[in-house]
Amino acid sequence: MCEHRRTVLVTGGTRGIGKGIVERLAAHGLDIAFSGRDRAAGEQVEATLAAAGGGAHFIRADLREAGSAAGLVAAAVTALGSLDVLVHNAGIYPEQPLGDMTLDDWHAVLDTNLTSAFLLAQAAAPHLAASDAGRIVFISSITGPRTGISGLAHYCASKGGIDGLMRALAVELAAQGTTVNGVAPGTILTDSLAELYAEPGLMESVTRIIPVGRMGSPDDIAAAVEFLASPDAGFITGQSIIVDGGQTIPEVQGNS
Ligand code: NDP
Repeated sequence: MCEHRRTVLVTGGTRGIGKGIVERLAAHGLDIAFSGRDRAAGEQVEATLAAAGGGAHFIRADLREAGSAAGLVAAAVTALGSLDVLVHNAGIYPEQPLGDMTLDDWHAVLDTNLTSAFLLAQAAAPHLAASDAGRIVFISSITGPRTGISGLAHYCASKGGIDGLMRALAVELAAQGTTVNGVAPGTILTDSLAELYAEPGLMESVTRIIPVGRMGSPDDIAAAVEFLASPDAGFITGQSIIVDGGQTIPEVQGNS
């Protein structure tokens, strides 16, 4: 369908899930630009992929800075020559009980996770329109859209917002041939997740409630992203795929 290598911008590719997405898409021949704030980490990912024969351009961008989303999309199009896919993965999940949560805390999470999704989609849409299979994939979460976690009110609101934005844009951008979907991870083992679940025994007890018997890996999420980003997924739009090893499925059964 496409004669050129498909081009993709991944936000938050310096570590964790985003790094897994960059690595998988690079291994499957996509041409990648990825962002983050940590220049050393970004250049390390770039160098590792180059040594393995894959290509990825690191672009430093703090998504909380005014104009950064538009600047990032413009820099990615300059580096890649086109844009077929936007994957917005960058996100933060600092634990803050409601009583301690300041307006600045709220804005930090909403700006990074949700407002940047709107701004990136707005900047990317004209470029995606020029693709014969334009794709937006948002990394959402089970937390917010399906479940709640104490201390993450801002995060749950941001990820619920992502799902609403995704459905509205799926309708609005369908006419230009761009699909808009989400991947909703369950519990994925990254350094930041390990920090959130630092309390002794918590990682083990969370693992026990996941039917497949393990936490997810960044590559589990990347596999779903790869499919939604592909030309093959052209009849899927406005959907969020839960990738959680069945964590949200079990019913509570009585007498125990
Ligand atoms: P990490 O903390 O490991 O990675 C977050 C990424 O986002 C980093 O690359 C970081 O880059 C980037 N980032 C954070 N803030 C900014 C900012 N202001 N500007 C630009 N980039 C930024 O998180 P995870 O990999 O665990 O999570 C990735 C995504 O997946 C998030 O959206 C998260 O909500 C979602 N998710 C994760 C789950 C999990 O279990 N891990 C479960 C459900 C959803 P840098 O440090 O270079 O700035």
